Amino acid sequence: MPQPLLAVQNCSVRFSLKTGQVLQALTDVSFKLHAGETLGVVGESGCGKSTLARAILQLVPAAQGTIHWQGNSLDVRDKPAMQAFRRAVQCIFQDPLDALNPRMTVGDCVQEPMQALRPEWGKAAIRARADALLQAVGLESAMRNRYPHEFSGGQCQRIGIARALAVEPQLILCDEPVSALDVSIRGQIVALLADLQREHKLTLLFISHDLGVVRELCDRVLVLYLGRIMEIATTAELYAAPLHPYTRLLLAAIPLPDPQQEKARLAGITVGVGELPSPLKPPSGCVFHPRCPQAQAVCREQVPALRQLGERQVACHFTV
Ligand code: SF4
Repeated sequence: MPQPLLAVQNCSVRFSLKTGQVLQALTDVSFKLHAGETLGVVGESGCGKSTLARAILQLVPAAQGTIHWQGNSLDVRDKPAMQAFRRAVQCIFQDPLDALNPRMTVGDCVQEPMQALRPEWGKAAIRARADALLQAVGLESAMRNRYPHEFSGGQCQRIGIARALAVEPQLILCDEPVSALDVSIRGQIVALLADLQREHKLTLLFISHDLGVVRELCDRVLVLYLGRIMEIATTAELYAAPLHPYTRLLLAAIPLPDPQQEKARLAGITVGVGELPSPLKPPSGCVFHPRCPQAQAVCREQVPALRQLGERQVACHFTV
């Protein structure tokens, strides 16, 4: 197996609040991401998905664990290494309009990261690349002189994607990139990302609470719950036969396009699974036990290890 592009090992992140409480945002998270792979990270709001992205970007310190990039441990004190890392890893954000500077033209928004991180390319080449990128994401280069507020949400996200691609990154972190868009636009942006992923052999970490979108785009899926990994599997395996009870509940919540099937789905959903517990006071043992339809006494006392089962990993006492 070749060396992974990114390796997260036993990463834990906690935040100390002014109240004196400690919020455990991530606990013992480990996974690898290989070049050209698309890994989906799914879970409800508040389960640690965005904290994971911020920990990878070194925007929040890990209380424990390591993050390796191309085999080397990331260290914020190593300025040259961090600059190379920032050039290699770009982001696409949830709110496309918020992510673009309203005082800059669209052309400047796309050129800015190249001017900052690839000045050696020169002015003319940077301008030409910005035009080519705008076309690659389905916009016209003639739009370069307009401002972000003149574009729709979907168009702004296309600009955000062009900006993320600008410096030829090796990894793009996509943090809920389609959740702020209309349903009709979502499919177009997902199709665009899939095309660009194939064309540029991009490596993507795709964070989403929408398992329907993840299924279309991702090779593997990592399921997070209250900051812990519940299951990691190939997309095909996970959707065909989810092993963890939480994964099963997430999949059961995907709406179906056929009205008859949707009615049957709603009727069959397990009710009364409750709210996500507070990460300020996570449940003992298996953190999923208060909502788990299969929970037993041992689940309240013992944290299940993330066990390897063939190609996948699952954290449940009763999965064999
Ligand atoms: Fe449910 Fe117990 Fe498995 Fe946790 S360990 S997912 S509570 S059965």
